[in-house]
Amino acid sequence: MFDSIIIGAGVAGCVAARELAEAGRKVLVLEQREHIGGNCYDEPDKHGILIHKYGPHIFHTKEQKAYDYLSRFTDWYAFGHEVVANVHGTLIPVPFNLNTLHMVYDQEKADALEKKLVEAFGMETRVPILKLREHEDEEIRQIADYVYENIFLHYTMKQWGQTPEDIDPAVTGRVPVLISYDNRYFQEPYQGMPLDGYTRMFEKMLNHPNITVETGVDARTRLTFETEQVLLDGESFKGEVVYTGPLDELFGCCFGRLPYRSLRFDFEYMPQDDFQGHSVVNYTVSEEFTRITEFKYLTGQKAAGTTIVREYPFAYTGADGEIPYYAIANDENHELYGKYRTLVEKIPNVYLLGRLAEYKYYNIDAMVMKALELTDKIK
Ligand code: FAD
Ligand code: UDP
Repeated sequence: MFDSIIIGAGVAGCVAARELAEAGRKVLVLEQREHIGGNCYDEPDKHGILIHKYGPHIFHTKEQKAYDYLSRFTDWYAFGHEVVANVHGTLIPVPFNLNTLHMVYDQEKADALEKKLVEAFGMETRVPILKLREHEDEEIRQIADYVYENIFLHYTMKQWGQTPEDIDPAVTGRVPVLISYDNRYFQEPYQGMPLDGYTRMFEKMLNHPNITVETGVDARTRLTFETEQVLLDGESFKGEVVYTGPLDELFGCCFGRLPYRSLRFDFEYMPQDDFQGHSVVNYTVSEEFTRITEFKYLTGQKAAGTTIVREYPFAYTGADGEIPYYAIANDENHELYGKYRTLVEKIPNVYLLGRLAEYKYYNIDAMVMKALELTDKIK
């Protein structure tokens, strides 16, 4: 009855389903949550404020192809996302940039340091904090120490339970020091929000006569992954199976659980117009939560009250109700992941796609690109 099965209805699964459906295949999408959209899912809360249930998601890309693809299913609320850090009660722009420099140092010192930074790296450049800390110039190293101590160290300890040196440098590299007066968090040309929300965008993507979606279904209750084949409801299934969930769970975590960081989201509604005047405030030197998002500033929604969310990171244990959000990139974990990958590679019609299945950090745009690449290969 079905030519292809997609497990998981996040970005990866939705794009893959649409592509295979448009190529003429009958596609079954199985999603264990009660809704589609994966971690990008948004919905109005009981006060009518559009919230992102799994944390703030801002679309940003330099890839015209990813932007054009999603634009088939949504219009955009275009805005340049800005983040500030609360450092002992003062709000400063993050990533640390030349505006931040002038807030932190007096004018004469800031002018001199700016000249030095521009001479060392050039204007409009991005310097990872760990590189800046190794710079030969002592004054530049002092700026690096300020940024490290006030922006990275405590936030990273909360988010990862490890210091910036002990995690994959690519992670802190996502938020470099910017030799620029650009206060935006991302510098890519396309950025913003799906005008009617992410969920609506994914609903449109899955709305195709060749696609059947079943939510509230753990695929492991329908599919069995054997040594060289997949069974659907006990019968051998020869079509493509695209899996976007955690790889260890396909095999009962037989080699041990893949480690992840998880998050608890604490939402709070307030019957007031404004809470913090910013979409996102990072708490980089204090508090147990990492950041507070105020949704109306993210989505542009006009509403009388306001809803915020605080994010509390913790180590994922696999307990019921916990969600694995961030793969922890290091040699040991990649080796464990490799063992599971070897098992799946023996099944010729199973493809791994997505943040969980590939045990890799992907932004939305990169996920779209990867899903298009995989489905092109399958087609
Ligand atoms: P997911 O969204 O996790 O989807 C996987 C789906 O598979 C889930 O719905 C899950 O329920 C389902 N599933 C798993 N196992 C099974 C099973 N056995 N049976 C059935 N279904 C199953 N990216 C950006 O570009 N911009 C941002 O601002 C941004 N912010 C983020 C903030 C947070 C807090 C997090 C965690 C991520 C953020 N991301 C952001 C990244 C973005 O969430 C990912 O790129 C995207 O969600 C990846 O999509 P995916 O389909 O791989 O995974
Ligand atoms: N980071 C930090 N302080 C900040 C912002 C980011 O230390 O104010 C570090 C932290 O380690 C974080 C990483 O940079 O995990 C990447 O930040 P990003 O905002 O990309 O994280 P995500 O969107 O994945 O939560």
